[in-house]
Amino acid sequence: MNNQRLPDEKGRLAAVRRYAILDTPAEEPFDKLTRLVRDVMGVPIATVSLIDAERQWFKSVVGLPLCETSREVSFCNHAIQRNEPMVVPDAAEDPRFSMNPLVTGDPGIRSYLGIPLTTPDGYNLGALCAIDTRPRSFDATQIAVMQSFANLVLNELELRQIAMSDGLTGTMTRRGWVEAAEREIARSRRNGSSASIIVLDVDHFKLVNDVYGHPAGDTVLRTIAQRCMGDLREADLLGRLGGEEFAVLLPQINAKGALDLAERLRTLVAAAPVETNGASLRVTASFGVCSLTDDIKTADAWLAVADALLYEAKASGRNCCRSSVSSQ
Ligand code: GH3
Ligand code: MG
Ligand code: MG
Repeated sequence: MNNQRLPDEKGRLAAVRRYAILDTPAEEPFDKLTRLVRDVMGVPIATVSLIDAERQWFKSVVGLPLCETSREVSFCNHAIQRNEPMVVPDAAEDPRFSMNPLVTGDPGIRSYLGIPLTTPDGYNLGALCAIDTRPRSFDATQIAVMQSFANLVLNELELRQIAMSDGLTGTMTRRGWVEAAEREIARSRRNGSSASIIVLDVDHFKLVNDVYGHPAGDTVLRTIAQRCMGDLREADLLGRLGGEEFAVLLPQINAKGALDLAERLRTLVAAAPVETNGASLRVTASFGVCSLTDDIKTADAWLAVADALLYEAKASGRNCCRSSVSSQ
């Protein structure tokens, strides 16, 4: 096990973001597992908890009327500091938890078993938890069963990730990206933060296929995705909307910041030729940049504005950026 990952909180948060799961709706495979934990372990409360920067968020929860708590009060925040199961037989007697409001008040937690949810590259995303309102111990067999359930949670997370990744470029699929954009609209509405998107479309891409062949075209798409990903922050999400069109979702970035980034990406795409089997190809792309405004209510509406700007960029000669702000 990669113990050296434990102090790497920045990398851990990036891993949590990579799974693009925070604030997603309930999904049956995870709910099935928390129900199994409840029934097999004989506990009233079971959760799949993911530890975000400031909160724990439940991908699935039975026995609690909550979807998140502060990170401060989270038992799982302790569980992810180690790479082994964490057992708390009596929280009221444990100095780490005796004053915890989840212990002294509702729901009155007294005992806890948490198994870290460790990614293949060694980051603890959160924990699978069995929680009781009375003191109790968990024996070795029960801990081993919980470990197997935690492995199943990880498998589900991985499958979800694969289903959301574009096979050719490794970016998100259109569906995964659009869902993430919908969540970003909701989040931005909740806390008033800014957000922007960039859409980009490769210029004269049909020519690349026609002249150099489809495999060369595929190499161009993969290379462009890699170049863009190399320049994005951990929180930014790159998706392939279809064909040779990509989109970047930029949480907490305003119109100016997004236009600056689009210019950087434009330069990166155009700067160096793409090496394919036998040919060195110069490619460029055109960009539409749109920051979120009150009248944009859906991801489709957001994309429609960005797409219109992208086509303005095409009409202006390609290899350039057009933004909702600069064009007003
Ligand atoms: P423009 O500058 O106006 O964007 O022109 P374009 O040639 O890039 O645009 P057009 O929409 O005419 O062509 C897009 C081409 O992308 C046509 C299609 O065959 C090709 N394409 C779509 N998906 C893939 C793919 O996965 N791999 C490859 N190699 N080509 C693809
Ligand atoms: Mg194109
Ligand atoms: Mg296109």
